[in-house]
Amino acid sequence: MNKETLNFQTETKELLNLMIHSIYTHKEIFIRELISNASDALDKLKFKAITENEILGEDNNFKIEIFLDSKEKTIKIIDNGIGMTYDEVLANIGTIAKSGSKAFAQAMKDAKKNTDELSIIGQFGVGFYSAFMIADKITLETKSPYEDTGVIWSSNGEGSFTIEKVAKEIRGTEITLHLREEEETEDSNDEYLEEFKIKDLVKKYSDYVIYPILLEVTKSEEDEETKEKVETIEMEKINSQTPLWKKAKSEIKDDEYNKFYQGKFHDWTDPLKTIHFKVEGNLDYTALLYIPSKTPMDFYSKEFEKGLQLYSKNVFIMEKAKDLVPDHFRFMKGLIDSPDLSLNISREILQQDRQLKVIAKNLEKKIQRELEKMLKTDRETYNKFWKEFGINIKGGIYEEFGLHKDKLKDLVIFSTTFSDEMTTLKEYVERMPEEQKNIYYVAGESIESLSKMPQLEGIKEKGWEVLYFTDKIDEFAIKALGEYSEKTFKSIHEAGEELTSTDDKKILDEVEKDNKDLFEKIKEILGSKVSDVKPTTRLKSSAVCLTSGSNGISFEMEKLMAEMPGENPMGPIKADRILEINSNHELFKALKSIYEKSPETLDKYAKVLYSQALLIEGFKLEDPMEFANDMTALIIEASK
Ligand code: ADP
Repeated sequence: MNKETLNFQTETKELLNLMIHSIYTHKEIFIRELISNASDALDKLKFKAITENEILGEDNNFKIEIFLDSKEKTIKIIDNGIGMTYDEVLANIGTIAKSGSKAFAQAMKDAKKNTDELSIIGQFGVGFYSAFMIADKITLETKSPYEDTGVIWSSNGEGSFTIEKVAKEIRGTEITLHLREEEETEDSNDEYLEEFKIKDLVKKYSDYVIYPILLEVTKSEEDEETKEKVETIEMEKINSQTPLWKKAKSEIKDDEYNKFYQGKFHDWTDPLKTIHFKVEGNLDYTALLYIPSKTPMDFYSKEFEKGLQLYSKNVFIMEKAKDLVPDHFRFMKGLIDSPDLSLNISREILQQDRQLKVIAKNLEKKIQRELEKMLKTDRETYNKFWKEFGINIKGGIYEEFGLHKDKLKDLVIFSTTFSDEMTTLKEYVERMPEEQKNIYYVAGESIESLSKMPQLEGIKEKGWEVLYFTDKIDEFAIKALGEYSEKTFKSIHEAGEELTSTDDKKILDEVEKDNKDLFEKIKEILGSKVSDVKPTTRLKSSAVCLTSGSNGISFEMEKLMAEMPGENPMGPIKADRILEINSNHELFKALKSIYEKSPETLDKYAKVLYSQALLIEGFKLEDPMEFANDMTALIIEASK
């Protein structure tokens, strides 16, 4: 077939452009990316060969080779892995395979403005393209065992690439990087042509790759007889090849765990927590698990897949065995190596694999215990964890019909009126005074706005603590929980009775009796907007507030329902609204006097007060125009 010149997708072009022009600080990671691709290609081949032995042919000496040529200024990286067919090259190297390239480009632009641009590279799987940071031309020659011919792909990273079928016998992929000549000398790429530099980088990033990485080196030795220096060229193995997880824990330094994590799971930051353990018994396995310190860029995208890598006796089986971690721990990264697993398992069978189920159960328990321990002994780290991944734990409480709620309820922490530190439910309950019967919460946008809610005034004065719910799912989670330590959860909007002392109750009864007409009148003006209007002593400095009635729907739920797409056939779901007026407030006196002197203006005042209470709750006004007109009229009247 003839040579074809094709254009990269727009997003790819944009990406390459960013690669070439914006990343200078960590260029060296190209080697990690290319070696990791080569190692993946060998993994894939090895796995296929379990069932299709013939694809290996004679060539079963798996390896990755590196050749440096300082005259030509090229680096070659060769693997005898699975290679690619013509179509695979087109699909894999002409596009960005993974995770929304647009999002990537945007993230890169943002990162340029902000901090660490590199944290993004791995997360988006743009590995191969990173080589354009140091190369101004890349040639890739590859052959798949499923096609008779090979393919040559070549590009200078500027908009287009060429692709051509060629005769090629040897299976695998050969990538040639033609190093970019940099203008400034301190930024020269020539250092990557030095043997020691490559050895250094491989040690740093790819030491544990289970295939031998061989570097072509020149050795000069003295000839024993002639005493002359003789140069010999040989392939030297430059990685240790021992999978990190197989080493004893005591022999591994934190830094090694972290480097391994970064290289293997494409993250630029160190993990928050490493969990490494071995189980021996009926079922043997080793687990190396990590909690990332940052939410991966694609965590909330459709492309994100949870799961752990699966190995059996160092042989890679699968990239994401998703059944190994429950949904509420979907942020976990890591791998499992078990000699007891059959290599010859498909995804479907894997799901039912009894051994895998046992492992999954143990892992869940282990992660749970580690988090509990962290919560107890290292709150600072736990807070960091919570900030990134807490939402998954809260989601886990109500997902699957609350199946996991009892396990998870003690991992949850909330902000609270008690202090700036977040609190567990257990700590909250331990602090509850005898007479407090419920766990109180207030739900809304931010702690800042919630802390000013009028309804908090009375409750705080009693010395009772209130949890701040600022995640939309908080209220759902505690509704699923139902109760904690036999205490029910109660929104401060539903609290009323218990905040009012017997003395206050008497006073309120009297106020209500003495002003029966006024309250009746306001109720009449507001009509179906409210289910009741009544005096309150729960407020201290505020004049009015809304509380929700007893129909079980809270204000926050009403707002959430309203945001959901589609119309509810039963009509909009609404919380009951009760307008409470602070009977100790100057405003109440003012209302009384208005009602006595000019009852006809009460109409506007009542509506304005109701609107005010709505706004405090974060609702939209039902009729902003009417509100504005009423305010204007009242101001004019006041001036008369
Ligand atoms: P990622 O490795 O994150 O998927 P890359 O851009 O590095 O992203 O590679 C894209 C795809 O190209 C890989 O997923 C793989 O299918 C293919 N590929 C890259 N390098 C090789 C290689 N050496 N051998 C076989 N396939 C490769």
